Amino acid sequence: MIMRKARAVRALAALAALLTLSLTATACGQEAVGGSRYKGGNSNTIGIAMPVKTSERWIADGKNMVKQFQAAGYKTDLQYGEDDVRTQVAQLENMITKQYKLLVIAPIDGTALTDVLQSAHDANIPVISYDRLILGSKYVDYYATFDNFKVGVLQASYLVKKLGLTEGKKGPFNIELFAGSSDDNNTRYFFNGAMSVLKPYLADGRLVVRSGQTKLNQLYTEKWSGKAAQDRMENLLNKAYSNADVNAVLSPYDGMSMGILSALQGVGYGTKSKPYPFVSGQDAELPSIKSIIRGEQTQTVYKDTRKLAKATVQMATAKLDGGKPQVNDTKSYNNGKKVVPAYLLNPVSIDKSNTQLLVKEGYYTAGQLK
Ligand code: BGC
Repeated sequence: MIMRKARAVRALAALAALLTLSLTATACGQEAVGGSRYKGGNSNTIGIAMPVKTSERWIADGKNMVKQFQAAGYKTDLQYGEDDVRTQVAQLENMITKQYKLLVIAPIDGTALTDVLQSAHDANIPVISYDRLILGSKYVDYYATFDNFKVGVLQASYLVKKLGLTEGKKGPFNIELFAGSSDDNNTRYFFNGAMSVLKPYLADGRLVVRSGQTKLNQLYTEKWSGKAAQDRMENLLNKAYSNADVNAVLSPYDGMSMGILSALQGVGYGTKSKPYPFVSGQDAELPSIKSIIRGEQTQTVYKDTRKLAKATVQMATAKLDGGKPQVNDTKSYNNGKKVVPAYLLNPVSIDKSNTQLLVKEGYYTAGQLK
């Protein structure tokens, strides 16, 4: 069904491209211009496909891009896929049919866009992969993201430091590990980054995972669901912590950290005699920053979505103007078909001691953090 639809959309897009090509040729009375590969679709609109609205960060990403693309003279069409792959594919097909100039896509499932990217290519529409890498297609022109491996390093090294392991404490300390959605390419970068720090401590017993679950495929949290993280944490506490406390939890995302903290509260953590374990996170979402200020979640990783939007708009405008987009990584992101040239931004660790940085940088107002 999807395949047939994709083929139909491809045909339509090709037809639209042909029509515009002949129109342009007639108007100019000469060989067609505007039809050359990768000049972009013929409308002046940038299609922006974001994954979901239930997480603050993606709302901010969308808003920032709309603002910045409009300032650069483009129209925008911002769509959210509501974590449903078929919805996102349909949104993209529609953007291609409308001959949008360029597509910016944060995929819901990194492997599910091969057909739709073929259609974009056939219609000369460039594609920028946003934050998450699109896999299995040659037709990803650029990738704008944060240093995803470093995100995991920041989370794990924070936990290790808080436990006192870097100052020579021997533990053993109990830690449980969580990973993100299996269909998101970032998940393994976050996890590998974290494990690059945790491995030596796990190997010599200074850190112990009492549940025994340390392999990535035991740790996935599909769609980054806070509820699923809460359920799994409840399970782990039930099974492995009836006579011991958990001292640290590696959580890759703030929404999951919130679920994990609920599970911990449910069995009595958060008191003087039973303090919360150190819990990491990612995205500096407001509920988590407030939780950090209250002394519940311990850490998060701040990724300034305004900067990511800026890097993306820079790439898009350079590409559409026939220039060379700025990249700073041409090695790390192989999507199975090509190494996608990337621009990686720097993630920053936030805990109670530096939440004011978010106010200083204008990410939140002082009032929002109260
Ligand atoms: C993003 C993270 C985000 C997660 C869940 C990942 O792809 O890089 O910033 O926490 O998705 O939305």
